Amino acid sequence: MSEIIKTDVIIVGAGPCGLFCVFELGLLDMKCHLVDILDRPGGQCAELYPEKPIYDIPAWPVITGQELTDRLMEQIAPFDPQFHLGQMAEKLEKTDEGLWRLTTDHGTVLEATCVVIAAGGGSFMPKKPPVPAIEDYEGTSVFYSVRKIENFRDKNLVIVGGGDSALDWTMALEPVAKRVTLIHRRDQFRAHADSVNKIMALREQGRIDFQIGQVKELRGENGQLSSIGVLDGEKNMVDIDCDNLLPFFGLTMKLGPIADFGLNLHENLIPVDTEKFETTTAGIFSVGDINTYPGKLKLILSGFHEAALMSRQAFRYCHPDARLKFEYTTSSTNLQTKLDVK
Ligand SMILES: Cc1cc2nc3c(=O)[nH]c(=O)nc-3n(C[C@H](O)[C@H](O)[C@H](O)COP(=O)(O)OP(=O)(O)OC[C@H]3O[C@@H](n4cnc5c(N)ncnc54)[C@H](O)[C@@H]3O)c2cc1C
Repeated sequence: MSEIIKTDVIIVGAGPCGLFCVFELGLLDMKCHLVDILDRPGGQCAELYPEKPIYDIPAWPVITGQELTDRLMEQIAPFDPQFHLGQMAEKLEKTDEGLWRLTTDHGTVLEATCVVIAAGGGSFMPKKPPVPAIEDYEGTSVFYSVRKIENFRDKNLVIVGGGDSALDWTMALEPVAKRVTLIHRRDQFRAHADSVNKIMALREQGRIDFQIGQVKELRGENGQLSSIGVLDGEKNMVDIDCDNLLPFFGLTMKLGPIADFGLNLHENLIPVDTEKFETTTAGIFSVGDINTYPGKLKLILSGFHEAALMSRQAFRYCHPDARLKFEYTTSSTNLQTKLDVK
């Protein structure tokens, strides 16, 4: 077994809610280690919609998914959180000393007094189109998400799908790409009416191409696509120049190993109480999209509130002999010292 890393709280998931837990726990003198399968923090915000604007974060009239992640990272920096990225939290067990031991698929072993499950929708995986050898092009020419619009400048792009993601990205990438072709198996979309109208307008203005059909062949060399073959509505094979293929067929969310953590689950969500956001297992908490309680709203701001209440109960486990005080950051010298602003 590798060297055991000891901390106060292990957070599974470095999405926005997991990140904000570091802040609330830090104010109450608890150190955190975070584990995330993704190679960077931010969860859905950074992975699925880094450049999309969010309009319902308090005091930020508009902020993109990536900016929110960056601001959270800045806010938690004084508490020096330790990240174990690109690792899946695989096994959770109780030690003889009464600590929680979490092991990742990379063999990292962490022990802590408390664990916060902030795993969102679990490990999310894109649904892939059934095209032969698509994996040979993944990450070089085929992408299931857009991390940086600039990477697609002056490219022949083919976007596949009929939902909001496909239409949104067609609109967002059209101004930078050399040419965008949108492919869907029929002439109707499952997206917001406003987006459908805008796509129709782009088509009529000749600014994008639209092709009914299904992608059947990928052609290229060394992971670089040059064209694709599409079987159209009349069963003819149509060739389309293509540097990058962006299929948006939705995501499957898999709870993954968390299902085997021995926690009480309800429809793949973790029931918690709304006073402490603790699961039915003492010392294990859950915040953000993965938890459930009456009235739960899967919004980022809900997770922020949950983090604050969770931290107060975690404090009782981590500092059983200390008195829990309620303090404002505006007026507490104690909190300001921890935040390094005094
Ligand atoms: C397109 C889109 C637009 C949205 N717009 C808004 C909006 O405008 N306003 C709003 O409030 N919300 C919005 N949401 C929802 C918002 O993104 C979620 O509520 C939020 O991301 C939940 O945060 P979280 O930290 O709970 O989980 P997530 O962001 O899902 O992060 C969970 C993290 O846990 C990791 N993880 C899961 N299982 C494991 C494991 N076993 N080991 C290690 N890591 C693991 C995942 O990799 C992930 O990084 C939107 C969502 C989408 C998809």
